[in-house]
Amino acid sequence: MKLPDYVKENFKQILLLRSFRARICLLVLAVGILTSVMMRHAIMSTYQRRAVQQRTETVQNQLLIVAKHLISNNYFATYRMQEPSMVASRQGINAELETISNLYGGRVMVIGKNCKVIRDTYGISEGKTIISEEVIQCFQGQNISHYDEEHGYIEMTIPIASTGTDGKSSIVGVMLTSVSDETIIEMIDRMNRAAITLEFLMIMGIVVASVLLSGVLTRPFGKISTEIRKVKEGTSERAISVPDYIETEHIVDAFNDLLGRMNALNDSRQEFVANVSHELRTPMASLKVLADSLLAQPDVPAELYREFMTDMASEIDRENRIITDLLALVKMDKTSQDLNIVALNVNDLAELTLKRLRPIARKKDVEVTYESMRPVIAEVDEVKMTLIMTNLVENAIKYNREHGWVKVVLDADHQYFTLQVSDSGIGIPEEDLPHVYERFYRADKSHSREIGGTGLGLAITKSAVLLHRGSISVTSKLGEGSTFTVKIPLNYIAPAKTAERR
Ligand code: ADP
Repeated sequence: MKLPDYVKENFKQILLLRSFRARICLLVLAVGILTSVMMRHAIMSTYQRRAVQQRTETVQNQLLIVAKHLISNNYFATYRMQEPSMVASRQGINAELETISNLYGGRVMVIGKNCKVIRDTYGISEGKTIISEEVIQCFQGQNISHYDEEHGYIEMTIPIASTGTDGKSSIVGVMLTSVSDETIIEMIDRMNRAAITLEFLMIMGIVVASVLLSGVLTRPFGKISTEIRKVKEGTSERAISVPDYIETEHIVDAFNDLLGRMNALNDSRQEFVANVSHELRTPMASLKVLADSLLAQPDVPAELYREFMTDMASEIDRENRIITDLLALVKMDKTSQDLNIVALNVNDLAELTLKRLRPIARKKDVEVTYESMRPVIAEVDEVKMTLIMTNLVENAIKYNREHGWVKVVLDADHQYFTLQVSDSGIGIPEEDLPHVYERFYRADKSHSREIGGTGLGLAITKSAVLLHRGSISVTSKLGEGSTFTVKIPLNYIAPAKTAERR
């Protein structure tokens, strides 16, 4: 027999009952078998009780008839008399007792007032005295019957009542009878055998039903696996749908979310690669044009050579800048494990950065001021923090006007420190504000290129801020200037282990 693939793959798991289908199967089987066995037992014992009760009633009724005959024939008064008529009537009654005794496989004893056995169909106890609880209770008017299942007989007592001349009824004797349950047990056995056969067929049916049912019930989970496999193998990129159960819907929703995120990531990666190639090709194209035009002219004057070479060198610088920024960005994308967190004096760091940038500002005649509201010691990565400050201040200088100003303010509360970089520059149009952190996004495209912008500076800055679990925001007015605000926790919050692994 060929086993399904998933059974082969998960054979061990199925044995360990880790298979949902195996559990359903077993559960249905257990419930089915238990119910059918219990039902058979309940039906059989009810039947047995009813059969015993019926047998008791039948025998009691017949003995009551005989009891009447005993009284009408004056059996007790005449049982010693030997007159032929008495003997004949006694024999008639004895024959009746004998018949009942034979018919039901039992023994009938007729007991007189003094508890003496007058007649025993077994002929063993005649003349003996029987003082048993049942007999005494019967003399007191109680009809007693009880079933001794262990020894296989039903015992009962029947009072023999006679009505006196005053119309009062008195108990003059008792019939103590025990009948065999053999025929009942035989019948029960026969029925039990038929029931067991039926039960076996039912269990077979339950086995088949449980296998089919568990298959049907677990099919949606198989469907999910198939759909996910299709996505994995690349045959489908669509969101999957298995609405059979609320549970499958939840699993599928979670998967679709993941798929959506992965697709978005894929799209952004493709866009990034396209942008990178485009950005890298622009300086190359300029280089090619410059080189071609030099080669096209046979006698190029030395000054023209120099001029073209200077242009080529600046294009190479630009290419270099893009590659350096890209590498910085890629580094930033790595996990925070690469962070080198130390407690640092942020005031010193800001002053040092500004000192380095002032010569550039001076070239554009831009005044850079620094204001520190309080000393700030924070747990940060020095290299990345310098990158954040440099990028923001550099932009504020780059996108400024002649004789403009740049103001850097450092402040802190008990949880965060804030670095605010304001400028009197060209500002950013409102529609561009949400995009300035995107890779290769330039608000003022021609101007940005002209002044050597790569469009990656703010993307790098934002990544560095996020690595510190901080936030960055910008407000700007076109023609008036912009303010970038960075907020970073004073104490570094390490990411949770699971998030890091992800
Ligand atoms: P770039 O290398 O082009 O400067 P950035 O990522 O640093 O790239 O900045 C993205 C764009 O945001 C810039 O091209 C520029 O148009 C705009 N920008 C950034 N900072 C400022 C600022 N301080 N004032 C005006 N525009 C700015």
